[in-house]
Amino acid sequence: MKIIGVDLDDTLLDSYGAFVNFHNDHYGTSHKWEDISTFFIEDIWGITTDDVHRRFEQFYKTDYHRDAKVIDGAIEAITELAKHNKLHILTASPGDMKEEIETWLKKHFEDKFSSIHFMKKNIFDSRRSKKDVCKELGIEVFIDDALHNAEDIAAGGIPVYLLDNPWNQGETGPLIKRVHSWKEVLKDLEAGV
Ligand SMILES: [Mg+2]
Repeated sequence: MKIIGVDLDDTLLDSYGAFVNFHNDHYGTSHKWEDISTFFIEDIWGITTDDVHRRFEQFYKTDYHRDAKVIDGAIEAITELAKHNKLHILTASPGDMKEEIETWLKKHFEDKFSSIHFMKKNIFDSRRSKKDVCKELGIEVFIDDALHNAEDIAAGGIPVYLLDNPWNQGETGPLIKRVHSWKEVLKDLEAGV
């Protein structure tokens, strides 16, 4: 039995995929998911960080978010992992979207997660470090898509699986393992039990 921490956006929920569609439809842009070469889209879309926050705030209230897809393989892997491990979600999604997020999670993952922890109260709030919350919960391994989160958590001595994406390319530290699918995460974790 392991205590496993799991990120939400782009680890379970296809957030950038849904946000790109929302943004293109509402702001007349033609951005592509595969061109998101940095986690911080303000650096490539020519808008400010404040714009990003405001547009995400709008997005969260739409069907684009409500109907967001599940990342490939996540349901199968989480279903297996939940049989023998304790799973917690740690997300930078805002706490004031708790109800909508829990509805989405319940729809796709039923009650597979023991708890969900929000790193910030609202989208403009400064965020708590995932590493600190991992320590409080006794998390032994984490799964995320953001390089800065992976580095933060790994700096606390916790191994991280980094799901390979266009925005997290580059070198990773020793406790970070780049993986290309949830299948790979599952296989690796089951081999280690
Ligand atoms: Mg994420």
